[in-house]
Amino acid sequence: MEYITHSPEETEALGAEYAKSLKAGDVVAFSGDLGAGKTAFTRGVLHGLGYEGRVTSPTFAIANEYETPTVKVAHFDLYRILDSEALFEIGFDEYLDGSRIVLIEWSENAADVLPEAYKTVHIAYGDADNDRRITIGEVTV
Ligand code: ADP
Ligand code: MG
Repeated sequence: MEYITHSPEETEALGAEYAKSLKAGDVVAFSGDLGAGKTAFTRGVLHGLGYEGRVTSPTFAIANEYETPTVKVAHFDLYRILDSEALFEIGFDEYLDGSRIVLIEWSENAADVLPEAYKTVHIAYGDADNDRRITIGEVTV
């Protein structure tokens, strides 16, 4: 499915709508350039799940964990994680045990360790400054 949004708010709203399709154990692999809106979409997902606090990029923390009213969520930003050894050092694989929703920015850097089946959200810059083309899909076994 492909969508065009015209503001960060619209991207968040799309994320909140998308959240309704998610359940514990789901892994969402985000891709797209810096500033495309991966964190904005993620913020929408968390708010859609009922989390009311601040949602910021975990670039420096690597992972942020959230407890929503119904499900736990782990949000990774792997921008600076360039090999699978570094992933194991942060305990990445332990988050894939089915107990939470896992949202991964710069999932390209975890290509080797993603589960067999996962969901994908690609965000690309559009024609106008605030346009974004958001492609939602999945990789199935
Ligand atoms: P990423 O996590 O992909 O690096 P962020 O979500 O942190 O990107 O930042 C997206 C930036 O783009 C923000 O500064 C936001 O205000 C801006 N922006 C402009 N238009 C949009 C849009 N349609 N959707 C999402 N972000 C947008
Ligand atoms: Mg980000």
